[in-house]
Amino acid sequence: MRTKNRLNPVESIYYTPEITHCPKCEGKLTYCHPVWRKTISTLKGEFKVINLGYRCENNSCDNHIVYRSAEAEQLSMKHITYGMDVIAHIGHLRFKEHKTRLEITDILTEKQIKISERQVQKLYERYALLLRSSVEENTKEILEKVVEESDGLILSIDGVQPEKGNETLYVIREVLSGTVLAAHNLKSSASQELVGIIQPIINWGYPIQGFISDGQQSIRLAIEKVAPNIPYQYCQFHYFKDIAKPLVEKDRKLKTNIKKKLRGIRDIERKIEESPSESLEDEIASDYVAAIRSVLLEDGKPPFELPGTRVYERTKSIKDSIEKCLDKKGDSFT
Ligand SMILES: [Zn+2]
Repeated sequence: MRTKNRLNPVESIYYTPEITHCPKCEGKLTYCHPVWRKTISTLKGEFKVINLGYRCENNSCDNHIVYRSAEAEQLSMKHITYGMDVIAHIGHLRFKEHKTRLEITDILTEKQIKISERQVQKLYERYALLLRSSVEENTKEILEKVVEESDGLILSIDGVQPEKGNETLYVIREVLSGTVLAAHNLKSSASQELVGIIQPIINWGYPIQGFISDGQQSIRLAIEKVAPNIPYQYCQFHYFKDIAKPLVEKDRKLKTNIKKKLRGIRDIERKIEESPSESLEDEIASDYVAAIRSVLLEDGKPPFELPGTRVYERTKSIKDSIEKCLDKKGDSFT
């Protein structure tokens, strides 16, 4: 749902994992809890990002990993509320154009980004660290734990080019732990250059379950070249937004129809309000009304969260529950 703040509306964006089925038992992954949520300032505006965690719902499966969206991870870095595009831009301004801290702050402020000189300094220090660190040493422990728990790493690769003509900052991450493994500035995004940054990660020798990235041709070719046998998956959003259009339209109609049918609850609400006694039945009825009200407020983010389908599923579970409740009531009278 969108946050209602008239002075400074921030759009909420929910991300779901690119992996939809359990790699161990192939059961469907279902929502468990948000992995993280934070407001991120990007060159395209400010967004509240919620990375939703999913896990295998099969009781007989021993996979307890909580999966998260690689695309959401790519937007920023741990403990930082600025987008990767802002960080890459600051790095470029500082190290290529040799701008001062104050100049960078002014440039970003002009782009509607709220940032102080101190934050600029922090971010270009972080950028420099990102590019020169030998990441393997720092992350060894984390990666070993991921391998132990889930049989292998899931890698994502994403390129950020804040301004045309600048170098592109490529970042490779391990998705299950949300860890940055490598970052490089590349002048060309040819697949040969990308092979040069992916290969060293493969050479670390950890088992790899899969790669996730957007559909960029050169990334795909590079992955095919260095790891031909490792499954490759697109970021869901890039992939779904075009093919999902007819589905989204049908879903919208479904939602409108269900909402029409639920309009009668205002009458029930009135009856409860006018009821002189505060009986247990009134209380139960008003709980159900609240549940239905929450359904009416349901909203989704097509294409990966279809609001109509969600409204249908929730309405159905409320209906089942009411029927069960009425059955019980019938029993108690016999
Ligand atoms: Zn499973």
